[in-house]
Amino acid sequence: SSSLLAYCRPGFEGECAQELAAADAQGGGGGYARAERGSGLVEFVAADAEARRRLAVGARWRELVFARQLLQVLGGARDLPPRDRLGALLPIVENDPRRWCDAWVEAPDSDAARELAALCRGLNAALIAALKQRRLIDRGSRWRLHLCLTAGDAAFVAAADVAEAAPWPGGIPRLKFPRAAPSRSTLKLEEALLVLLDEGERERWLKAGMRAVDLGASPGGWTWQLVNRSLHVTAVDNGPMDAALLASGLVDHLRADGFRYRPARPVDWMVCDMVEQPGRVAARMAQWLAQGWCRYAIFNLKLPMKKRYDEVQACFATVRTALHEAGKRVELRAKQLYHDREEITVFARVV
Ligand code: SAM
Repeated sequence: SSSLLAYCRPGFEGECAQELAAADAQGGGGGYARAERGSGLVEFVAADAEARRRLAVGARWRELVFARQLLQVLGGARDLPPRDRLGALLPIVENDPRRWCDAWVEAPDSDAARELAALCRGLNAALIAALKQRRLIDRGSRWRLHLCLTAGDAAFVAAADVAEAAPWPGGIPRLKFPRAAPSRSTLKLEEALLVLLDEGERERWLKAGMRAVDLGASPGGWTWQLVNRSLHVTAVDNGPMDAALLASGLVDHLRADGFRYRPARPVDWMVCDMVEQPGRVAARMAQWLAQGWCRYAIFNLKLPMKKRYDEVQACFATVRTALHEAGKRVELRAKQLYHDREEITVFARVV
């Protein structure tokens, strides 16, 4: 097969497909996407095996905004017999020369597929047993086998290079809501730090004693994540901040306009969760980075209903252009996180 399989938030299949098509076009093009709206899944069929190889180089999971996971398709099957689904899928695996460090049976994040969770668990145990029996498990292999059930009787068989792919089943890190955090949106920043930075970067770039500004901070879910890592936070919002968070002694609450506030001296971090037009947020973020008011930034871009892919590209261009004009280079990483609804989360740093 010469196709790739991406998991995404249901409803964003079009954006995910556009991104893969853009990467394909850079490598010569000729491919096309197959995606059903609401399925949480995009299959991108490259022109041939060589085009898929080029596409896999150009479109990496880490660099894609709308893909939660990106896999190489080995094959697929429909009309799987309910009594022996694996029997129909294993020949596809046996035809592949690879051995596997692990195997995950997953379903996309759609309403329909969520009901397949129990079936996935059962099949996962059976699949691993079948692979062991065939001596196809090798814990040192760089390849992981994925079965993606799109219905009770249909599945893709796919492969992931563990160094390149998302390390969470379904591409979704399961986070536990911290009881002491003041709002659910705390999970968004936690997920952003987990997905957009690697372990070494989190250690080097997020150190106790660093200074941060949180724009649009109320009631303090994002600030809580930073305080939890012992950063000092200036929380800018006309709304109230959680009392326990203020009692930490690490938070200064400033009732001010987040689009006007600028720090008296440069800080390490600026995070921003203000609900505003994405273009306006991007322009302000660009200013912070270009002026050197912060070194690292994480911000949300709320996406409009239409032309969401174009809007994201326009926002990235705004930031890149402003930094270029300031004689600086910026690194941008962005994802539509599991906790992001009609929005994406961006990490930016001046390099
Ligand atoms: N990140 C917060 C948390 O984890 O608890 C939630 C932020 S909430 C989605 C958006 C916040 O942005 C609101 O509290 C709102 O008051 C604030 N906001 C919107 N426009 C703002 C502005 N111009 N200046 C300051 N705050 C603003």
